[in-house]
Amino acid sequence: MRVESIEAPRHILCVFPRYTSSFGTFEYSYPLTDGVQAFMPPQGLLLIAAYLPENWPVRFVDENIRAATKEDFEWAEAVFVSGMHIQRQQMNDICRRAHAFDLPVAIGGPSVSACPDYYPSFDYLHVGELGDATDELVARLARDCSRPERQVVLTTNDRVPMTEFPIPAYELAEMKRYLLGSIQYSSGCPYQCEFCDIPGLYGRNPRLKSPQQIIAEIEKLRDCGMTDTIYFVDDNFIGNRKAAVDLLPHLIEWQKKNGYVMRFACEATLNIAKRPEILEKMREAFFVTIFCGIETPDPDALKAMHKDHNMMVPILEGVRTINSYGMEVVSGIIMGLDTDKPGTGAALLSFIEESRIPLLTINLLQALPKTPLWDRLEREKRLILDDDGRDSNVDFLLPYDDVLAAWKKCMEAAYQPERLYARFLYQCDYTYANRLKVPVSPELKTWANIRRGLIMLRNIIWKVGILGDYKRVFWKFALGRLRHRDIEGLLGPVLIAHHLIVFARKASSGQQNASNYSLRLREASVPAE
Ligand code: SF4
Repeated sequence: MRVESIEAPRHILCVFPRYTSSFGTFEYSYPLTDGVQAFMPPQGLLLIAAYLPENWPVRFVDENIRAATKEDFEWAEAVFVSGMHIQRQQMNDICRRAHAFDLPVAIGGPSVSACPDYYPSFDYLHVGELGDATDELVARLARDCSRPERQVVLTTNDRVPMTEFPIPAYELAEMKRYLLGSIQYSSGCPYQCEFCDIPGLYGRNPRLKSPQQIIAEIEKLRDCGMTDTIYFVDDNFIGNRKAAVDLLPHLIEWQKKNGYVMRFACEATLNIAKRPEILEKMREAFFVTIFCGIETPDPDALKAMHKDHNMMVPILEGVRTINSYGMEVVSGIIMGLDTDKPGTGAALLSFIEESRIPLLTINLLQALPKTPLWDRLEREKRLILDDDGRDSNVDFLLPYDDVLAAWKKCMEAAYQPERLYARFLYQCDYTYANRLKVPVSPELKTWANIRRGLIMLRNIIWKVGILGDYKRVFWKFALGRLRHRDIEGLLGPVLIAHHLIVFARKASSGQQNASNYSLRLREASVPAE
């Protein structure tokens, strides 16, 4: 439980590291918006900020928005950092900068929890979730805020129940600078997909907040300036189906009372398609997108990776069912699996055409520590840990160059403007058309919303419609949407499509790496993430 106050107040600087340029952070969309600079507010770091003793001043800096300054470090007495594996270099860099001011630096979050060895320079390692290790860290800093002589590793044995989590300190973040709001309802997942570290890190029995906590968080996000889409960062929204069923009526009621000012998105397993009662309620709550880790359309591959639950309904049928409730499917795809054959790339492209999914994060297989995949490849001596020139640490069964070439070809073909816009057009006609028709409430008709839409429209017309090199495709789509008076169906897809097109071009020309597994957009209920 949060310590109310501790006699020796400490100034804590929480710094969230920059993301490496990636497919999943939509950075090429930002110039089309009204000032977005970052993807989602980091749940964990804002959670720890809220958990600290109430008389400890906290400053939060997201280096995706601005770098921590000399003044920030001079103000601070200790620095907290967190992030995922792909932010490793940036986290170590923050540590180096903080040490230049002789500040103690603590690191928490999913990366250090899985791989403490990655962070030899930090003074405190916080391994695991919010709990007794957090309390011990606070107690140590309260006693003595100088740098310890050697690294101290604090591991959580006794976790704080999620029902006792404070609301993340969203007030410290510049909410308007984020593309999406984020919220966490549960932690953990009951499945055991071979490549995934979630069950190993957070358990198979999902832990939960209460619906009342979630409503309070949504209200706080709104009060702090978030007015668009809130992403449930839970690794599997239906990891505990009963919990999802319990939450949805609260979301529906809140949306009705508040003029449907928010849209929701989440991650869930594809077998959600077998739960019409959940999908119907999600539609009513105005969920608009579900990220499904489809991973591969090949049944043999799904079996091999222990993701059989994706086959509970035929994949294309599952996607169509979700679409019929007004929700677009975003899909994760992995290439470089042991079951891949020379024709895998072509099969994947056919699947993309058939499924009409516009947005798929296509990555090369990467083995994460603390996963069954890591253990198997280690046994088979197929982990490659000393070659920075590769985009994956897996020794594929097919030649590496062939796998990489297939990936590049898929990226290039899948995100050709004509093909991508055709898939978005399908979504407009068949998916978005199934969405709840929400009333244009006074909460939606605000001057701020109108201004925002106009700025985006201006940017899109100028940067894509006039200066862009795929303007013919854009105008064909845009004029169609305008004829339908569908401004929303115009802005959303164009914004996302621009990022996908630009990123894919860089990827296929070798300027982006191919194993950004962190694109699954997951975050975790650990401190300082
Ligand atoms: S990939 Fe998804 S379904 Fe599989 S274990 Fe991880 S979180 Fe669960």
